[in-house]
Amino acid sequence: MQFIDLAAQQARIRSSIDARIKAVLDHGKYIMGPEVAELEETLCAFTGSRHCVTCASGTDALLMPLMVWNIGQGDAVFVPPFTFFATVEEPALLGATPIFVDVDPVTFNMRPDLLKKAIEAVRSQDNSLYPLPKVALERKLTPRAVIPVDLFGQAAEYEALLAIARQHDLLVLEDAAQAFGGSRHGKKNCALGCHAAATSFFPAKPLGCYGDGGAIFTDDDELAALLRSIRVHGKGGDKYDNVRLGLNGRLDTLQAAILLAKMEIFPAEIDARQQVAGWYAEQLQNIPGLVIPGVAQGNISAWAQYCVVLPAGKRAQVMAAMRAKGIPTNIYYPKPQHCLAVFASLGYAPDDMPAALHASQNILALPFHPYLEEGQVRQVVTALREALA
Ligand SMILES: *Cc1c(COP(=O)(O)O)cnc(C)c1O
Repeated sequence: MQFIDLAAQQARIRSSIDARIKAVLDHGKYIMGPEVAELEETLCAFTGSRHCVTCASGTDALLMPLMVWNIGQGDAVFVPPFTFFATVEEPALLGATPIFVDVDPVTFNMRPDLLKKAIEAVRSQDNSLYPLPKVALERKLTPRAVIPVDLFGQAAEYEALLAIARQHDLLVLEDAAQAFGGSRHGKKNCALGCHAAATSFFPAKPLGCYGDGGAIFTDDDELAALLRSIRVHGKGGDKYDNVRLGLNGRLDTLQAAILLAKMEIFPAEIDARQQVAGWYAEQLQNIPGLVIPGVAQGNISAWAQYCVVLPAGKRAQVMAAMRAKGIPTNIYYPKPQHCLAVFASLGYAPDDMPAALHASQNILALPFHPYLEEGQVRQVVTALREALA
């Protein structure tokens, strides 16, 4: 059994991918070819966002808006501790201080009530209100931005997060790297009212290309124009008239072509993911001590991963037992961000973020992709039940 079966998907659209690749080889515009603009239009239409600026990776999609906003030294950027490294790496790379805000134990997304506490703690330099990094006590940091993550495919609680951000004049960057294709209260992820949203087209994401890729979404005309400049080394009128510092942050034409072929079946794949998640939810009932993923009211998840939380201390044994039956599993994420060596100087203790710590110790990702069959889901669940018995 495959953890993610990209071959099944390719078999379904191989002729369309071949035709799209051939078209690129024929016109030869490998950098910013016509497929890039076509993809941006397609993704705008899909999400309902005003602008889509494709880029080289999900990591660049996070970095570029932070660059436009001049995030840097002395700034506080609020992030969840239970996420992929890039969410925290990009503000830190620009010199800002990441301030961790713990997650909900069922959705694994940032808790709005704790965001409020963390902002107040930074403003009053008081870590009795909420755990803070050491530097936030030594100098007064300016709260500038929050990067909520739509972990495993479902949107964070944006109404509450945006209301708090508005009150405190914070910019909101949605990290939808795992959540493209999902929605909240009928609005597509990446178009949920944040100042900008970032997604990734890494092959294993819900919409993946055959290499690295990403995109930024925004309704802000000025931000979109600046992102298009930063994408090509801070170009002004042309690329040799540089007016600011930027990146080589472009999406390859070939990757855009592949994504256009994948978009033909993407909505149907999102539907198929709901069905697979439904089979799991049905069959995982009544396993003592097991927490199955909860989807918040109003959300449709893109189901980048299907993660359960095991009873404490069982994970290594369960993984080994399932591996012995040919069933691959993975851990997202074995270490919460506040416990990583790279952030040691922030001075967080592991239990400063108890929900992230507990999740990192007990979470397990089961095989999941839109081509998984009901019988395979049953096989996974049977193996899990036996391993836990
Ligand atoms: C994958 C991922 C990223 C980074 O995307 P890349 O395309 O790999 O650079 C950022 N944030 C989250 C939450 C991710 O899962």
